[in-house]
Parts: sequence; structure tokens; C-alpha cells
Amino acid sequence: MRDTRYDILFEPVKIGPVRAPNRFYQVPHCNGMGHKHPLALARMREIKAEGGWGVVSTEEVEIHPSSEFAPYIEGRLWDDGDIAPNALMVEAVHKHGSLAACELAYNGFANPNLYSREAPFSPSGGPVKDYSPIQARVLDLTDIRNIRKWHRNAAVRAMMAGFDIIYCYAGHNLALAMHFLSPHLNTRCDEYGGSLTNRVRFLRELIEDTIDAVGHRSAVAVRLAVDQLMGSEGLRYDTEGHEILTLLAELPDLWDVNLADWSNDSVTARFGPEGGQEAYIGFVKKLTTKPVVGVGRFTSPDTMVSQIKRGILDLIGAARPSIADPHLPRKINEGRENEIRECIGCNICVSGDMTITPIRCTQNPTMGEEWRRDWHPERMNTYLKPVDKKGRVLIIGSGPSGLEAARALRGRSIEVIMADKALEPGGRILTESKLPGLSTYRRVMDYRLSLLNQDPKFSLYLDSDMAISDIVDFDVDHVVLATGSQWRKDGVGRAHRLGIDDLKTASIISVDQILGGFSVSGSILIYDDDHYYMGGVLAEKLRFDGAHVTLVTPASKISEWTENTLEQGRIQSRLVSIGVSIITNYKINTLSGGQVDLSPVYGGERLTIGYDHLVPVTSRQPRDGLYHALKEAGFDSVTCIGDCLAPSTVAAAIWSGHAFARYYGEEPEARYDFKRERIDLNP
Ligand code: ADP
Ligand code: SF4
Repeated sequence: MRDTRYDILFEPVKIGPVRAPNRFYQVPHCNGMGHKHPLALARMREIKAEGGWGVVSTEEVEIHPSSEFAPYIEGRLWDDGDIAPNALMVEAVHKHGSLAACELAYNGFANPNLYSREAPFSPSGGPVKDYSPIQARVLDLTDIRNIRKWHRNAAVRAMMAGFDIIYCYAGHNLALAMHFLSPHLNTRCDEYGGSLTNRVRFLRELIEDTIDAVGHRSAVAVRLAVDQLMGSEGLRYDTEGHEILTLLAELPDLWDVNLADWSNDSVTARFGPEGGQEAYIGFVKKLTTKPVVGVGRFTSPDTMVSQIKRGILDLIGAARPSIADPHLPRKINEGRENEIRECIGCNICVSGDMTITPIRCTQNPTMGEEWRRDWHPERMNTYLKPVDKKGRVLIIGSGPSGLEAARALRGRSIEVIMADKALEPGGRILTESKLPGLSTYRRVMDYRLSLLNQDPKFSLYLDSDMAISDIVDFDVDHVVLATGSQWRKDGVGRAHRLGIDDLKTASIISVDQILGGFSVSGSILIYDDDHYYMGGVLAEKLRFDGAHVTLVTPASKISEWTENTLEQGRIQSRLVSIGVSIITNYKINTLSGGQVDLSPVYGGERLTIGYDHLVPVTSRQPRDGLYHALKEAGFDSVTCIGDCLAPSTVAAAIWSGHAFARYYGEEPEARYDFKRERIDLNP
């Protein structure tokens, strides 16, 4: 039963001509599926509606070939042929009584039009975003009229697809409407440039056109970034952001307000707390009577209630919390808030879009798999054959892969015994969540353990270093090795596939020693050939511990892969600000007597640096000795999962544990037999 304190979250909200059934609002979010995978997209969005999100939005939806987002895969409404694929999602969302919202997006020179090859438009020309060798053409008044017409046509198509809310987009530094608003991008001297009233003109016209085209049937929303976090060079919430709201306050039916750019809007937990946008968007409700939605990685119902009661928001916006737990509202409604799978703020979901692949999520292994594998976040197999062997499974290792395998197997009513040699469960989560900014990672283990610990058919044995003889004693049907991995000390990585000879004999400190609490001081040299978060976060930790830290990497940037999680700029800035010395484009050549000789990746001078301790962060070795020993001893009912199979992200370990549980008892080939959306050869 619902806690009455949360009743307010379930009040309906009128949005222009439509009514949201509650205050849970899944704001637009990218997903790497878009127009190429409409069936997968519709099912993913449907599960959110089923889970209680009162409004479920699309991602950015392209309206015209003169502003397309290739190589990124977003929605598309270029012509009437695109209505039917969009209607799939609308119908799926409507089935559960929720509203469907469509974020029409015309992004001008934020996208180089790599597919259509048309020169992109911008208010005042200039190079496109990113480093493409492409410049925009300056919009003339005819172009502006054309874009308004295309937007209007797309709004009509969105309405024909059945969308209840239609957006005018002015967010994330991406939208053309935002380029008009920004004084540093709009230097026009005509009626669309100069004064704020002039710079607002294009957005005002888009809103008026959309209301004229669809108003009174669909609601018209505006997504506006009220601050670009660029200081005086950009819009600020307390100056022009405020004035824009004042000028347009009552025009749309809904305000969806946030920060630009995307890395500020979707800041990771490492760099921003839950509800972190309040300081910027808190003023909006004071200026308008229209409902306001905003985001803040909200996972706590108490925080949500507080946002509403204090007059900050009317609707609780969420992208990531709805990805990590598509059934979050339903759990609150049913008094099961302790079952919420809380987002950890890692932005692995963003990496799907950035790498042009279907969305994935660390906490929710079913995200992106709803249609193609028929995975549901709250239910285990409804389509697979029942497991022949109903007996017990022994899982060795209580890290993310082991815990998820256990949780999911219990969803299939299979008894699980878990053993771990550590004194506490959690594997890598236990240690990594103690690193600076990573405390939310604990949610990975807390969510799973809180469910498993109440389950009489789950038993956990800690302080149990398992050998073959112990495994025999357990008398189980199947053994799962989730024994993880260890950081290499020999330098094997991307730049040194065979390792670094001198490292094999040098005295070094391993990543695992530091994670285990080994204290180091003096001059530390971190050699990062891994390129995800570990090198950068260790540098941060050791610097906070008082060491002098130099971070060397063969890459051109620190923690380079974190471009995909929108963190790279923040990580590098933070390391610079706390005094970590950074050396990029260098790799280790030789070591001797506390000195390292570095050779440049692209030629030039070598460098020699002294150090007290060297920490190689290069790659990990699966801890799979027991697995191979079992195989050699003739055990055939054994499976290796997670980092023990192949070291990777926490998201990959969880997916691996989940996939094991889904396919347990199936033919080995079953996991490759997922559905695909094939190209229509008769378009
Ligand atoms: P993953 O990310 O794949 O889930 P982790 O490294 O997080 O893996 O967790 C592996 C867990 O396995 C650790 O808690 C570790 O203590 C445990 N472990 C490793 N080898 C053994 C073993 N022989 N017996 C019991 N537990 C083990
Ligand atoms: Fe949250 Fe990480 Fe999942 Fe994204 S991938 S929704 S940030 S837990």
C-alpha cells in the first residue's frame, strides 16, 4: 500500500488540453535506437508507461533532412511515411493510460548533416560543433520561414501519430532556437538578432506556429536550457534565462527547463548530486502559471515530494532514473519504494547513444533488450522453456555479475547458494564505491542484496575461499564462477600488448592494493593505458591523500573513453585543479632506479621522470583459475560470467549475470537468437 506522504506524486496534472495521470514525467532521452529500431523503441517506452510514468517522451525527433543527426540515431518525422513508426510508440504508451510526448528538434549547425550532405544552417554562420571541417550557412529570412513551415508540418505529423504533447526544443546548446537565443552564436543585425526580444523571436514563432497547428488538441511544451554554465559568455539563469521566461511565460502549455550542454544536464554522480539543477531552475515557477517539469536524477520519493511542496516543480522529470528503473512510479504507488533500482549516475546509458548502439544501463540489464530478447525489468522469462534442472545453483563471487545472476535466478524460482572469500559481499563495488565521487555505485550491491537477503531460498557464505573440494560438498546442479578479475602489474594494455619488460621486475603498487586500502605517499606515477575512470579517479584519490601525482597516458586526453559518459572534460579539469601533473601522448619505455623513461607516441623528445611508486592502470586479468581447474577435473556444469569471463564495465558484468540467468537451461545458441529489425527491401 502506498505511503500517504507520497500521495501528492500521484495527483493528475493538467497540461493545456491534456491531463497527465500523475506527476512522473519521463523527459526526452536518447537511446541509440531511434528511427532505425522503432519496434524496440516502442517496447522500451511501453514498459515505462506500464511502470507508471504518466508522460513518456521520445528522444529528439528530426523534422527535416536539412537538420539530421547522423551518425547518431534519433527519432525522425521528415514526412508522412514516418508517422506510422512513431505511432507504434504512442499506441504502446497509451495502452497504459499515459501521455506520449514528442520532442521535435531542428538543430541547425549542432549537426553537420553527414547523411543528407546539406549545408547546415545557423543564425550567423561559423564552424559546426565538434571538429568536423564543415561550416554553417547563415539563415536568411526565407530560410527562417521555411524552417518554421517544416516545424509546423512536423507538429501536424506528430499529432497525426497521436502524440499528446509536442515540444519546441531550445535546449542543450543543440537546438537552433537556442542558437538564436545565445549572444555568442547570434550576431545578427536584423529582427532576429541584437536585443533579447529579437533573439527570442524565432522561439516565439515556433511556439505560436505549433499552437496554431496543433493547440487545443495536443499540448505544446518548450524545453529550454535556462543556463549554459558559461558565465557571461552564455545564457545565465539569473539574467537572460530569467528574461526569456518572463517574455514567454504563458505562451506554451508546459515548461521543461534544464541546463545546457548535455554534460551539464546529465551530470554524472561523480560531479553533481541528486536535485543539482534546483539552484538554476528554481525561479521558473514564480514566473509562470503553466506546469513546470525539470530533472535532477531523482530517485528518492521524499526528494520528489519536497520539490513539489516547495514549489520548484509540478512534474518530476527523469531520464536516467526511468532507465535504471522503468517501474519506479509503480513501486512507490505500491509501497515498494525499497525495491527501487536507483540510478547510480554513471552515464553508461549515454554511452549507447554516443557509440551509436542501443541503450544499455548499469543497473538495469534489460534496458534496450525489451523487444529483441523479450526481457522485462520486473519479470523473468515468460517465453523460455521451464528449466529442466530445477535444483540449486552455486555462485562463487558476490560482485555485480554474481549478485545479478542470483537475483535473476531467484526470479525463476531457482535456489541459489553464494560463496565469497571476502568478509563482505560486493566484489569490486565494495572497494570502488569508496573512491572519490563513486559512492552511488554502492547502489549496485545494495539493491540486489536488499532483495536477496529477505529471500529464504538464497544463502550467502562469506569468508569462504572456495576450492574444488568445497564445491563438491555443496552438491549443486550448476556452478557459476563470478570470481572477477585483478589488475595487471605487468603493463599489458593497449599500448603494450606484450607488457612492459621492466615492470615485470620493478617494485610497483597495484591498483588492487590501493583499492584494498594500502596507503602510499611521496611521488606517485600513474600509468593509464586503460582509459576509463580508474586512472583518473585514483589520481584524484591519491592527490587528496597528500601524494604528488603524475598521470601519464599514451592517449591524447585523460580518461579518454569517458567522452562517452560526458565526463572527460570534468575529469581533466578536476585533475588540473587539484594539482595532478598530466602527461599525455607518452608511453613507458624503460624503468630503472626510480626513474621512468617515456617515449612520445607521435615522435619528439623523450622524457625522464622520477617517482617513488608506480601504479600501472593498464588492463585486468580474469580470476578464472578455479573455473579452469573445475573443467579439468571433469565438471561440465560450470559457467564463467562477468569479469571472470572477460573484464569489462560493471554494466557488462551485470548484463552477463542477467543473461546467464535468462538462458540457464537453454541451448548455448539461444542467446544469439535475438530478434532484429531488418531493412524493408520494398520501401
Ligand atoms: P564481477 O565484476 O565479475 O562481478 P568482482 O571482481 O566484482 O566480479 O567480484 C568477484 C568476487 O569473487 C570478489 O568478491 C572475490 O572476493 C570473489 N572471489 C574470487 N575468487 C574466489 C574464490 N576462489 N572463492 C570465493 N570467492 C572468490
Ligand atoms: Fe543511471 Fe548509469 Fe543506468 Fe544511466 S546507466 S540510468 S546513469 S545507472
